[in-house]
Amino acid sequence: MHEARQAAFEKTAQTIIKNLKKRNMEGYYCASSADAVELVRQLVPEGSSITWGGSESFAETGVKDVLLAGNYRIIDRSKATTPEEERAIWQERATADFHFMSANALTSGGEIVNIDGNADRLSLLLHGPEHVIMLVGANKIVADVDEGVKRIRTYACPPNAARLHTETPCELTGVCSECHAPKCMCCQIVVTRHSRHTGRIKVILVGEDLGF
Ligand code: SF4
Repeated sequence: MHEARQAAFEKTAQTIIKNLKKRNMEGYYCASSADAVELVRQLVPEGSSITWGGSESFAETGVKDVLLAGNYRIIDRSKATTPEEERAIWQERATADFHFMSANALTSGGEIVNIDGNADRLSLLLHGPEHVIMLVGANKIVADVDEGVKRIRTYACPPNAARLHTETPCELTGVCSECHAPKCMCCQIVVTRHSRHTGRIKVILVGEDLGF
């Protein structure tokens, strides 16, 4: 990231951290993915159970590899080979100590905006795991919720559609058309504006572009 953009983002991040606090959520600023990895090591005690949804940022930062290689109890949904195993793993994930994800957009006022198709990762954000840690790159910051939804439809869904082969208009044309396609990724649009549970949601703002 350009030096000037990095300096500006650090200021923005500090403002967002203050606004997250008003919403009973914790914010942290890390200049780099390497710093974010170090912070996660401090926040997550060894032996904790860990799960995650589909998050490019979780992998891109290197946090995923460090946790997989460390002394943690990993609950990986991709290990399920039957519907019964999938169900059993889901039950473990719902009571995990830590759920990792990113945000599709984060407003400068501290509102977290996400969309989901099956709502796997979002249901774990809303309720269940004791802690949720979000890794959010500078590219996810928007002015307000409306801009967040536009950002998601314009910049997040087309590449995710290409990655997941959803056959939605945003995959076929690269442009959202407010679809009702069978594999629509925008079944749920969730705005997290406050947390009742002090310390449960932690947002790590990373001074890099991460994910879509
Ligand atoms: S509503 Fe449909 S076309 Fe629009 S971004 Fe979502 S999945 Fe793509």
